[in-house]
Amino acid sequence: MNSKVYDVIIIGSGPAGMTAAIYARRLNYSVLVIESGAPGGMMVNTEVIANYPGFSEISGVDLSLAMYDQMMKLGAIHEAMEVTNINKLDDYFEVLGSRVYYGKTVIIATGTKNRSLGITGESKYFYRGISWCAICDGPLYKGRDVAVIGGGNSALSSVITLSKFVRKVYLIHRRDTFRGDPILVEHIKKLDNVEIVYNSNVIEFKGMPLEQIIVRDNNGLEKEFKVSCVFEAIGRLPNSEIIDCKKDQEGFIIVNDEFETNINGIFACGDVVKKGLRQIATAVNDGAIAAMSINKYIK
Ligand code: NAP
Repeated sequence: MNSKVYDVIIIGSGPAGMTAAIYARRLNYSVLVIESGAPGGMMVNTEVIANYPGFSEISGVDLSLAMYDQMMKLGAIHEAMEVTNINKLDDYFEVLGSRVYYGKTVIIATGTKNRSLGITGESKYFYRGISWCAICDGPLYKGRDVAVIGGGNSALSSVITLSKFVRKVYLIHRRDTFRGDPILVEHIKKLDNVEIVYNSNVIEFKGMPLEQIIVRDNNGLEKEFKVSCVFEAIGRLPNSEIIDCKKDQEGFIIVNDEFETNINGIFACGDVVKKGLRQIATAVNDGAIAAMSINKYIK
């Protein structure tokens, strides 16, 4: 058992968690960052990031590695572990998973997970015809036809990524206007191998491996599309189960302007918190403020 008590334990190493680590290390606090996946979070699976100031275009992997290097050079400790629980003991916290770590304060920066449609029979196609990562799985469908579901920036970016590998991408969206950035919409409208299917929902998956989907439009008309994979990009749900604090109906953690949760000593930042705009730029903002709030809290 490791009995060291860190000043700050940060759970999650996306842009919010890594920024909090950079700021906390520069304030000379001992910092442990715990992550169950690759550093970078959702950012690492983004092919091109074109809205993070300072870079006209940068790959998600490169930006993730740059933040990771900066955090590690400043002396943060990084451990791979899936956190299952956090308990308050006297004046510090224990963070539990396959090991146990202790911290005077904890920052939850665990981000979000994929949302799925929830239709009958869908789960048997998870990772066998349904994917949530165009950049990871797109190359597997070279020369074949695929579909993307959704109308936000994730769906639009996925279409752009996939159009480089596959023969055809159907973008299936339940409305006739997009939630995502107009610049991305304009881009995909110019791609020869993309067809946008408006006002429609996928209602059934068929074949094993996946061969076709049934799509129903808002007038009730049904149509079959032959596709080898469906990329679901229909929004995200928070990874907030590890902490029993105040949350909204969907589980996003409620914080104040200092990124404090309702539990003294536990802070939360990035996509896991209830907020209006989830971007790398806003995650970085949250992480910086959370670290400065911890400075006030510890002092
Ligand atoms: P999002 O913005 O919440 O969009 C989710 C999309 O899925 C919406 O178009 C929604 O339709 C649709 N949808 C939700 N439930 C559905 C269902 N049951 N069936 C069919 N469609 C459904 O989620 P996101 O695209 O994952 O983006 C999340 C955040 O990350 C956003 O803030 C986004 O800007 C950010 N992001 C940014 C970038 C970038 O800047 N390059 C890239 C990726 C993500 P409605 O529109 O009808 O509600």
